[in-house]
Amino acid sequence: MKLKFCGAAGTTTGSQHLLEVNGQRILLDCGLYQGRRKDAHEVNCCFPFFDPASIDSVVLSHAHIDHSGNLPNLTSKGCKGNIYATFGTRDLCQVMLADSARIQQSDAEWMNKRRKKEGLPLIEPLYSPIDAELCLRQFVNVGYDRKMMIGRGVEMTFIDAGHILGSAQVVLDIEDEADGKKKRLLFSGDVGRGDNDLLRDPASCEDVDFVLMESTYGGREVGDGG
Ligand SMILES: [Zn+2]
Repeated sequence: MKLKFCGAAGTTTGSQHLLEVNGQRILLDCGLYQGRRKDAHEVNCCFPFFDPASIDSVVLSHAHIDHSGNLPNLTSKGCKGNIYATFGTRDLCQVMLADSARIQQSDAEWMNKRRKKEGLPLIEPLYSPIDAELCLRQFVNVGYDRKMMIGRGVEMTFIDAGHILGSAQVVLDIEDEADGKKKRLLFSGDVGRGDNDLLRDPASCEDVDFVLMESTYGGREVGDGG
């Protein structure tokens, strides 16, 4: 079992983590890196750490664009696998990915005006509203606390993250053929602080061997809306 951090390591956006196990490649989140337009386009356009067509499935923790926003680019570049998400995440992604596609188009127009003046080749938007629509067809919805086999020797369960509507932590129970051992990996996604009128508190998970956890506000006090 191998885990590669392809984004949101040393920074807070562009969450993408690649799990390789039993000859399969499972991508945890496919977020957009959000920075200055030019830098962001370079980071987001080309998936330097893996070939999108080689991804067998994607597990999406929640709908925020820094976790979901590069999915239409991934599927338009050849990923044909299932995208596992909760029902709430799917509903939010329908609106948010379409909106993000319009932003990609206006960003590309803005950059191309400058590039034209500088005599540079024009760039394509990261993805179109049609790419966003097609990407949604690959979503497979799974409710909280329902175990589901998502690959050979890989069983997945979403548990509540208490962060936004539909947000989940991902529990992966893995039977690794390389050493015959069972391992439990917890990918936290973004975790809420609990005690919120609209959201349930984050669920807890026991007997975890590996934790992949967001730590944006680690060790700091934050106010409401942080
Ligand atoms: Zn979030």
